[in-house]
Amino acid sequence: MSTYLCYISIQQDRPTRSSLEVLTRMRELARRDGVPLAACVLHPDAERFIEALKPYGVDRIYLVQHAALAQHLNAPVLAALEAVFQAAQPAVMAFPSTEAIKDVLGALAARVSAAALPDVASFEVTPTVTVTRPVMAARVLADTEAAAQPVLISVRAGAYHAQPAETATDPEVVAVPFDFDASVLRATLREVLTGATDQVDLSEADIIVAAGRGVRDEAGKQLVETLARELGAAVGASRAAIEAGLFPASLQIGQTGKVVSPTLYIAVGISGAIQHVAGMAGSKVIVAINKDPDAPIFNIATYGIVGDLYQILPLLIEEVRRIKAGS
Ligand SMILES: Cc1cc2nc3c(=O)[nH]c(=O)nc-3n(C[C@H](O)[C@H](O)[C@H](O)COP(=O)(O)OP(=O)(O)OC[C@H]3O[C@@H](n4cnc5c(N)ncnc54)[C@H](O)[C@@H]3O)c2cc1C
Repeated sequence: MSTYLCYISIQQDRPTRSSLEVLTRMRELARRDGVPLAACVLHPDAERFIEALKPYGVDRIYLVQHAALAQHLNAPVLAALEAVFQAAQPAVMAFPSTEAIKDVLGALAARVSAAALPDVASFEVTPTVTVTRPVMAARVLADTEAAAQPVLISVRAGAYHAQPAETATDPEVVAVPFDFDASVLRATLREVLTGATDQVDLSEADIIVAAGRGVRDEAGKQLVETLARELGAAVGASRAAIEAGLFPASLQIGQTGKVVSPTLYIAVGISGAIQHVAGMAGSKVIVAINKDPDAPIFNIATYGIVGDLYQILPLLIEEVRRIKAGS
């Protein structure tokens, strides 16, 4: 019987939220279709993550354990994914849509003769696989159908909610034989430079406070960062705020930056240009703070505050602190 297989990415020693979101959706489809639900973990110490997956109702877990998988390098990851695919023979294999997966999805599809549908906002199996993908800077939603199986899909963060199953499972564990000769590597990863280690990761964040050109100086930047810290949120930025030199390029949200869909997106001094909206339109609740009542961001905002961010942010920070203190 065919299998629905979900790739689980590991970050900071645990399955990422975006992986668990995809796994939850795959479980819903697998239960409905009476198909086994499988997950796979690629990690030098993959066994450690079995416990974390049990509550999600998986029937089988494929593990690839190898030192070459300690950091993301395309060659070993691709070889390991191919080994898992051959072992599981899934009808559908789904991934969270991350930079790392973007790097390997097409190559994997070519190796295993599958269709690849990247960066989808939703997907269905009927039994053909149909997906909805935002295209043209999210101005248009394209419905696409794969003509045959197997199909590889990568799913945007926030497209589904991660939820444990009603009953946990005791999954069958399959150790996938894997050998990799590191001497064939033509590139090695020497160092990963992160902007700020104490900040919440943008693509995993439940709340994002994003700064635009309206945040014009260090004082404004500090207000944005303070609000984010108080809310346990990640900081993001528009391209204009990055070009002004206030935020690193890794924080850019939009067509040429990261695509995010947190539960709460607070846009501070952002006009709502289509290229920015392409990266955040999937947010559940959007709060816009802008001094221009006609700013296009208000067209997609759930709540709008018209006013000067330098006056509004201190009030918001104070209120959040008051609520947190329970007074
Ligand atoms: C090919 C291409 C790709 C692009 N990719 C991206 C991308 O990935 N991400 C991205 O963000 N942009 C991208 N852009 C740029 C995009 O077109 C916009 O220029 C950019 O998003 C504007 O950023 P902004 O809203 O911060 O600045 P602006 O459009 O200048 O808006 C600033 C806003 O701040 C408000 N404001 C000013 N002062 C205050 C204050 N004191 N209090 C409150 N509000 C205030 C203003 O009313 C205004 O609405 C791209 C452009 C191109 C051509």
